[in-house]
Amino acid sequence: MRKPLVAGNWKMNGDSKSISALLDEIVAALDKAALRRCEVLVFPSFVYLGSVVARLVDTEVGVGAQDVDAREGGAVTGAVSALMVKNIGCGYAIVGHSERRTLFGENDQMVAEKYARCLAAGLTPILCVGETLDERRADKTIAVVTRQLEAVTAKVGVAGMSAGLVAYEPVWAIGTGESATPDQAEEVHRALRDRLTALDKPMAVAMRLLYGGSVNAENAESLFSMENVDGALVGGASLQGQSFVDICNVADGIV
Ligand code: PEP
Repeated sequence: MRKPLVAGNWKMNGDSKSISALLDEIVAALDKAALRRCEVLVFPSFVYLGSVVARLVDTEVGVGAQDVDAREGGAVTGAVSALMVKNIGCGYAIVGHSERRTLFGENDQMVAEKYARCLAAGLTPILCVGETLDERRADKTIAVVTRQLEAVTAKVGVAGMSAGLVAYEPVWAIGTGESATPDQAEEVHRALRDRLTALDKPMAVAMRLLYGGSVNAENAESLFSMENVDGALVGGASLQGQSFVDICNVADGIV
């Protein structure tokens, strides 16, 4: 049985004060919730990673980076390597988020490099895949997410995939308040698991597939009730401690 996971992507939000308050709220709400199974992660901006790691060190909440550079290190002004993220105590990194793909021009190859860098550094990568609205309307959803997935599987193979997670995040559902329906999410998750099964069945069965795109405490239950939805990558709703922990609670009880 796959362990449910809920990850909060804070994006470029917050400052020292608001992040400290958010962490206090999350820790207090999680204490009350007493989750039995659900794994909980937060992804602050790079600037706050060190202080968030220090704040959460004695808790069950893991910390990760929203991105890493595709290179190992060196003369890359402004970039942050997977090794640095690992070195300050993080366990995870998101790669291929649609905002990185669209705003920063990241292609499948770069995302695959980043995924591999995470593995080499000892980080668990969360690979994001997802189609735009135009691609969905053109009936290309499965082709797009398969292409995005296979760019990574081709680079890291079965062992590399076993060490990471995949998040299906339809671009049209991110930050729009319009989540995919549970059936839409399940259709894509099933297709992703099928592709992974073609590579290696045990890896595919164990792979946690997260859904992301306007998840909140109200729609979480129906999404998590789907067979192949193993948790969520949450943006907006993760900025409110109680709503984030409510989502964790739902995952804990259902997935
Ligand atoms: C995200 O950015 O990963 C995301 C899912 O955002 P939101 O929950 O706000 O749609």
